[in-house]
Amino acid sequence: MAFIIDGKKIAAEIKDELKQKVTKLTEDGVAITLAVIQVGNDPASSVYVGNKKKACEYVGINSLSYELAESTTQEELLSLVEALNADAKINGILVQLPLPSQIDEDLVIKTISPTKDVDGFHPQSVGALSIGQKGFISCTPGGVIQLLKRSGIPMEGKECVIIGRSNIVGKPMALLMLRENATVTVCHSRTKNLMEVAKRADILIVAIGKPLFVTKDFVKEGAVVIDVGIHRDAENKLCGDVDYQDVLEHVSAITPVPGGVGPMTIAMLMNNCVEAVTKSK
Ligand code: NAP
Repeated sequence: MAFIIDGKKIAAEIKDELKQKVTKLTEDGVAITLAVIQVGNDPASSVYVGNKKKACEYVGINSLSYELAESTTQEELLSLVEALNADAKINGILVQLPLPSQIDEDLVIKTISPTKDVDGFHPQSVGALSIGQKGFISCTPGGVIQLLKRSGIPMEGKECVIIGRSNIVGKPMALLMLRENATVTVCHSRTKNLMEVAKRADILIVAIGKPLFVTKDFVKEGAVVIDVGIHRDAENKLCGDVDYQDVLEHVSAITPVPGGVGPMTIAMLMNNCVEAVTKSK
């Protein structure tokens, strides 16, 4: 029987551990403040931002909201980010993506001070990760590592195949698995014989952005499957990039959707906010 990796429970454990740390910091007179910027009112972004603020409240982190109009110019957003960079009371800056088309996302990310880059998207954070130096780790891939570690799933020496090479999931995921001494293969839309490559995996991490794409034909008997995807199916129910029911009997462990990787992203954001005051980046 497959072991179901309970992301909700592990995320709750992490948030409880952080809450204890934050209580101690507060007793020592150290406050943590996260600035959350949302441009426009995309409903999905509003839900994500709302969940992040709720998590801050739970852990004991102050969150300051900046809700800007859809028509905000690039200059206006950049000057807000620069003001927050210069404000010593702000420890973390999060700009909810995607941004409206008049704004260059890469430029905004680059403008955030690397010392406050709690999303881990700044080129300096990504570069530091790639050469094994200190820096913030992108929350979703960081969450996957915690899921594996806290479920007692060894990574060292394992064949890990990652499907997807995006800057926010696939690429940092590959660097983190390398850091854990896995043997890593990264697949993308030009990969030949994807099924055969995926079937080599002891640990298969799927971040392809296509609902129910990965079936049992992609999975080696006894593999661990981590599903990063989030979608709504035809009945408006949440599902992942993996056809969970189809692969379930073939795997040794798997993350469900919902309740797998999703809750970990916010827990790791909280972790990065705490690290912003406890570790120099
Ligand atoms: P993305 O930027 O769209 O990247 C998708 C990747 O999959 C690309 O590298 C693409 O290859 C590859 N790909 C697409 N079709 C393929 C195919 N037929 N065969 C092989 N590779 C293929 O997506 P993302 O931002 O990484 O997100 C992936 C999924 O994770 C989405 O469902 C997203 O909603 C979800 N997500 C969840 C969380 C969370 O908190 N749980 C966080 C972030 C993302 P190319 O590079 O060649 O185009």
